[in-house]
Formats: sequence, structure tokens, C-alpha cells
Amino acid sequence: MNWSRSPVTRKEDEGDLVLGHNSFFSLERMSDSVIEEMKNIPDLSVFHIGALRQIPLGKLRINAVRLHAVCRYKKGVRKTDQISPDSVRCIDIHPLALNNKWAKYANFLLFHEYLHALGFSNHGREFRRLEALWHDGEAREMGRSFSTYLRNLNGKWAWICTSCGKKHVRSKRSNGRYWCGLCLRLLIDVEN
Ligand SMILES: [Zn+2]
Ligand SMILES: [Zn+2]
Repeated sequence: MNWSRSPVTRKEDEGDLVLGHNSFFSLERMSDSVIEEMKNIPDLSVFHIGALRQIPLGKLRINAVRLHAVCRYKKGVRKTDQISPDSVRCIDIHPLALNNKWAKYANFLLFHEYLHALGFSNHGREFRRLEALWHDGEAREMGRSFSTYLRNLNGKWAWICTSCGKKHVRSKRSNGRYWCGLCLRLLIDVEN
């Protein structure tokens, strides 16, 4: 799941910089519970959901910002081929999602990547329809706040509104290209 930079005008959960510790988080247990949930989705009953269990799970590099999870197909497999869990080399999840704070989102990420593994290689209409069947509506909406969370950890620059004081942490300068969504004032760059 790839989250490109979204506009500055949206709400952010600022100041939430505490790293959850993940010593008890198990990818295997997560896989089991996601697969169990998927078995409860009638629209997926034509698929061999159990075969997803064989896909090796791993972690993205810890400083990944835009990528939250990825389904990597085996060498030579093309998106246009008939995809099945056999075509998948591994699924990687962002390591910072593997903790109590983000567990609900991590489950949803894995569900999303499992849909890719079942043959829905693109984010087409059918993919989005199935994705929306995930039971946890809150988890389905957590992508933006996870993006913000990652940016706040990685940001070298703070873009600040001199009117309302709102701060947006980013890896690059704004260079006079962004305005505050509330005050419509130009944001200034301050080293974070
Ligand atoms: Zn995807
Ligand atoms: Zn402002």
C-alpha cells in the first residue's frame, strides 16, 4: 500500500511520537487471525484462503515513509499473469505498524496484500470493493494517520503557519509552495 504525499490542508494527529514496542508482536499470529477473518467473508469463499498461510512475511526497512506494506511476486511473475499465493515471494509490512498502537491497521494492511496475492494485482474497482469488506472500518481509515506518524518520525523540517502556529513535519523544505489550510497564510520552514 503506497501513500504518496497528501495535501497539507487535512487534519493531522500531531505530537503523537511515542514508539510502541513490539516485542510480543508475532507476524504468524497476525497472519492466522487475518486469514480467519477472510474465511468469514462470503465473497472470498471461492478462493483457497488457507494457501495464503504459506506466504513468507517480512518487514519493510524501518525508514520507509510512503510504503506501508507490499506484496512481492516471484521473479518472472507479471501482474497480468494469473496470480495465486504460489506466485508470491513475500509480503512485507512496515515494522512500525507491528505494535499495539497500529495493530488494527497492520491487520488491514495484511488483508490488503493478501487480496493482491489472491490475484487482484491492481487497485481496480473489484479490489476496492473487496477491500471495503474488511470488518474493521476504523482500521480501513488509518492509512492517513499512519502516514503522518511516519513523516513526523522522519521529518527534518517543520512547515509552520505564523498565524495559527500549526506545524507540519516533512522531510523537505516547503520553499514557499504551501499555504495553511485554515488561515491561507504562506508556511515558513523551520528546522525540526
Ligand atoms: Zn495494494
Ligand atoms: Zn494557520
